[in-house]
Amino acid sequence: MKYLNHIIEAVGNTPLVKLNNVTDGVKATVLAKVEYFNPGNSVKDRMAVKMIEDAEKAGLLKPGGTIIEGTSGNTGMGLALAAIAKGYKCIFTLSDKQSKEKMDVLRAVGAEVIVCPTNVAPDHPDSYYSVAKRLNQEIPNSFYPNQYDNTSNAAAHYETTGPELWDQTDGKITHFITGVGTGGTVSGTSKYLKEKNPDLITVGIDTYGSVFKKYKETGEFDEKEIYPYATEGIGEDILPKNVDFDMIDSFVKVTDKDGAVMTRRLAKEEGLFVGWSCGSAVYGALEYIKQQNLTEDDVVVVLLPDHGTRYLAKIYNDEWMRQQGYID
Ligand code: PMP
Repeated sequence: MKYLNHIIEAVGNTPLVKLNNVTDGVKATVLAKVEYFNPGNSVKDRMAVKMIEDAEKAGLLKPGGTIIEGTSGNTGMGLALAAIAKGYKCIFTLSDKQSKEKMDVLRAVGAEVIVCPTNVAPDHPDSYYSVAKRLNQEIPNSFYPNQYDNTSNAAAHYETTGPELWDQTDGKITHFITGVGTGGTVSGTSKYLKEKNPDLITVGIDTYGSVFKKYKETGEFDEKEIYPYATEGIGEDILPKNVDFDMIDSFVKVTDKDGAVMTRRLAKEEGLFVGWSCGSAVYGALEYIKQQNLTEDDVVVVLLPDHGTRYLAKIYNDEWMRQQGYID
């Protein structure tokens, strides 16, 4: 018999799929790492399982414990699946800009969800970071994975995403392009790939309203860069420990609109029903490929973090898109 002992054993080994239509006029081969094939429908399953297993090994998480995390939804899903497998409770804090679908999905898998305001500073007591930290102090036998600074996050990608891409491209990958939120995906995957091939180039996708690109270029944490934006999962108003700037050669910023419109094209033209930051990653990748005049010899991998269902009421809703002024 061939079966998995638990759904979390299905994490990883996602397919790499060639983009054929949105890449019109591009000479390089562009391959998408489609992370919605993970059981929680996102890339974050990889690090969620690793954060929990590392915490168990370190004695930080004990039987009957409660996992508390500030999460934009996808990490929560991964943590919830791992918690079911291992018998823990979950409480998640989310900012109110996150889609309702993401919150419903977390509740569906048994987690408690606490919604916090978006437009407050990270150190404000009501921010989703602060609320998660406070609950961790108040609730006995609770564990706060802290995906931003927990090195198990990047390590999961060093151990899985990086080797998978190296194998799937037969070592021919020349560029790795991915959105940057906590930084785990970009830092861990890039570290593995650059060890294999020091000439490999890694590009981080950032949003307008986030600090990463300016910090990489100037070394300055510029608060003027920070303002509210709509894209979910990428860009930050803090510098998480998981962002290893040495592993990122450059950043491309993508607007909410360009990301949203490209996401819809991926669904219609490639059959990839993916989430908003996937459109941002592909849009940014195509900009980079054109700027740098990449050729037939280049093999560019773009990582697509999550699935489209979580954005049905937003970017896959024509009325909403018109209200935002993203389409006519
Ligand atoms: N896209 C989405 C939809 C996400 O949820 C995340 C996680 N914040 C990312 C991109 C970025 O991944 P990472 O946190 O590994 O940088």
